[in-house]
Amino acid sequence: ASKALGGNRFAFYSSAMNQRAERRLALEVKLRQAWSDGRFHVHYQPKFDVASLEMVGLEALVRLHDEEEGDIPASEFVPLAEEVGMIKKIDLWVIEKACDEVLSCGGGEVPIKQLSVNISPGHFVGDELYDELASILERTGFPGDYLELEITESVIGTQSTDIHQQLQRIRSLGIEIAIDDFGKDYSSLSRLKQLPLNTLKIDRSFISDVCETQDNATIVSTIILMAHNLNLKVVAEGVETPSQYAFIKQHNCHSFQGYLYAKPMAIEGIVALVKKAGLAS
Ligand code: C2E
Ligand code: MG
Ligand code: MG
Ligand code: MG
Repeated sequence: ASKALGGNRFAFYSSAMNQRAERRLALEVKLRQAWSDGRFHVHYQPKFDVASLEMVGLEALVRLHDEEEGDIPASEFVPLAEEVGMIKKIDLWVIEKACDEVLSCGGGEVPIKQLSVNISPGHFVGDELYDELASILERTGFPGDYLELEITESVIGTQSTDIHQQLQRIRSLGIEIAIDDFGKDYSSLSRLKQLPLNTLKIDRSFISDVCETQDNATIVSTIILMAHNLNLKVVAEGVETPSQYAFIKQHNCHSFQGYLYAKPMAIEGIVALVKKAGLAS
């Protein structure tokens, strides 16, 4: 009997593995097809100043609409795009598209204080990123000092010799650097001081139960305090409730994004928000 059970178990695991491999393959095919058909697009999530509630920034987020499945979550296809070597061209396309769309939303001027874009760790392996960014700024006419790159802790965690130099060159274009999902992975705190960084973005997982879990409350208030002491700006991501907002306000977090005030939306939605705020003609 136990042999039969073992056999079944093997069959179960192997079919689960097959399903995962099949899904992965199907998704890779969809990614490649979407790229050649030009079916990626960009959504923008507003960031607000905590004290004034003024809209101060936008985060550009890549979107993939699939005819059969509807929207495929970025959390599912971005890691695969990283694995199969497609993320660099996707990221650069997103940045250029976002620069274009945000500029035209403001009638040729940037209608907000900052546009943030996500950049995968792989971009820092070579040293082409600086040139790529410089030419995007040139092609679009987007002013570098309105752009911010969101990088992950894994990038600053590497003891890679040239990461400091790469970030410095990028900063020389006026572009600012934020650490995304801060606190989620290991980060060398001494690197935060050494590297030319501007902003820490507190990971959504700490914000989501900041009011229920004392540990998370401690982590969030400590990160905010540390950012103030290191002269970094600090952003809370994933603010969904008034009590989460009240918490970060009480602890003097600078800005936030989250479903409480605005979900990611197409540029048309941003145009309407900018008009409403009276920032564009
Ligand atoms: P991220 O950079 O940390 O982006 C924030 C994510 O949190 C977005 O998910 C956003 O929609 C979501 N979010 C914002 N506020 C809330 C909230 O109040 N509640 C909840 N539940 N979620 C909230 P999204 O767009 O699905 O992106 C997931 C991740 O995919 C991003 O996390 C980022 O790591 C990656 N990603 C997205 N676009 C790009 C891109 O153009 N390039 C690269 N390399 N990665 C990207
Ligand atoms: Mg981000
Ligand atoms: Mg984030
Ligand atoms: Mg996140």
